[in-house]
Amino acid sequence: MPGERTLKIAFLAVTPENTRGMHMKIQLSVLLLTAVLPLAAQTSKPIVIAHRGASGYLPEHTLPAKALAYGMGVDYLEQDISLSKDNIPVLLHDLQVDAVSDVAERFPDRKRENGRYYAIDFTLAELKQLAMSERFNYRTGQQTHPARFPKGQSRFSIVTLEEELQFIQGLNKSMQRTVGIYPEIKAATWHRQQGRDVSRIVVEILTRYGYTTKADPVFVQSFEFSELKRIREELGYQGRLILLLGDKKGSDGTDYAYFKTPAGLAEAAKIVDGIGPSLHHIATGQTKATLTITDLVRDAHALHLKVHPYTARADDLPPYASSLEEMLEVFFRQVKVDGMFADHPDRLVKFLQGQ
Ligand code: CA
Repeated sequence: MPGERTLKIAFLAVTPENTRGMHMKIQLSVLLLTAVLPLAAQTSKPIVIAHRGASGYLPEHTLPAKALAYGMGVDYLEQDISLSKDNIPVLLHDLQVDAVSDVAERFPDRKRENGRYYAIDFTLAELKQLAMSERFNYRTGQQTHPARFPKGQSRFSIVTLEEELQFIQGLNKSMQRTVGIYPEIKAATWHRQQGRDVSRIVVEILTRYGYTTKADPVFVQSFEFSELKRIREELGYQGRLILLLGDKKGSDGTDYAYFKTPAGLAEAAKIVDGIGPSLHHIATGQTKATLTITDLVRDAHALHLKVHPYTARADDLPPYASSLEEMLEVFFRQVKVDGMFADHPDRLVKFLQGQ
């Protein structure tokens, strides 16, 4: 990405000791920055993050779902990352592959004792044989969101992280845009228990593809604070990091109740650039009249943390909103979050254009 490279050169240029030289270089830097800024994905304007692609319309994490979201004008595309048996990062929301593919029919004898099929037990060559599909209940076979793309229809394949990055960078070239990436390292602690270091592998790939600094169009997310700390301190990753917040505790022991307090947020802010809370951590209530806004966004903003909540779904609304747009009013007009994950990103793009 030529834009980001120029930006880094510009920053390097403002640090010499010679003041006269520095003055000229600052002028040059300003010129470079002016030229580069329109390409940068991050602005103060709220960002639209396509949750697993345009997953409300096409099977999650497939390239067609990413292409559709790209065409809808999103700012970032999300990647959930697990490892294959041969240590290739692949895009999967779950550690198991049995709720989004035909693995149970194709490899019936490869399930674990709990009856589930784990991506890490299959080589990439095997995973590539699977027909990926719209998400369903692996026990009953019933499609999770009935109004979405029909389960089992057409043909979709699993995507590796590298295939996805090449795809997005290719589109960025042909479309003359800079759409960013939003990779989530899934279950780092679990991967470690399986003898794998998923973060090290992912950071190496992100570095190779030019996603290395806070000026690059990337946010790396995890539910595990200890892993984000390790990514920053041990692996030395300098790109932006987002701490995802759940309801109880992370598998590494991350105490989400603590990280929602001002003290916890202050500790997080030493490592990460923002938080990814659930919608109900910000707004609660059974009706519009009883809608309550928590202090979380205010407290996070006081520490200059970005807030990107998950997940806007047109077919799964919170009880206080009668439409997706009504919910977006709360989050973008009342609370003023910095972006949001969306299954139907076209609706969010359209809403923000009208703001
Ligand atoms: Ca995710």
